[in-house]
Amino acid sequence: MICPDHIKTMLFSETKYGPRLACPIAGCTMVSWNGSLPADKSTRQARMNAHAVFDPIWKDGKVKRKKLYAELADYMGLKVSETHIGQFDKIQCESVEWFVNTYFKEIKT
Ligand SMILES: [Zn+2]
Repeated sequence: MICPDHIKTMLFSETKYGPRLACPIAGCTMVSWNGSLPADKSTRQARMNAHAVFDPIWKDGKVKRKKLYAELADYMGLKVSETHIGQFDKIQCESVEWFVNTYFKEIKT
C-alpha cells in the first residue's frame, strides 16, 4: 500500500490492535488498519465525527439502519455498496453531517 500524500510504500507492523501500515515519512499521520484505505489523522477524525452524528439516528430505532444508509447513498449520489463512512474522505464526511441536518429538518416538519 502507498501513502497517497507521499507516494511512499507504507511500512507494516503487527500491533495489539491488529496489522497496521504507516507512512515512513516523519510527521505523516497516514495509517491503514487491517487493509482499509489509508487515512490521515484529520480524515480519521472527520469519519469519527460523521459516525457520531449519523449512528444515533438508527441506533435510536427511529429509522432502520438499511433505510438510512440507502437515503444517505441517494443524497450523496453513491451506490449503497459504496456508502461506508469508514471509507469516506473529509469532504464526504461533511456531506454526512449535511445529510443528517437536512434529514432531521425534513422528518420534523
Ligand atoms: Zn505519508
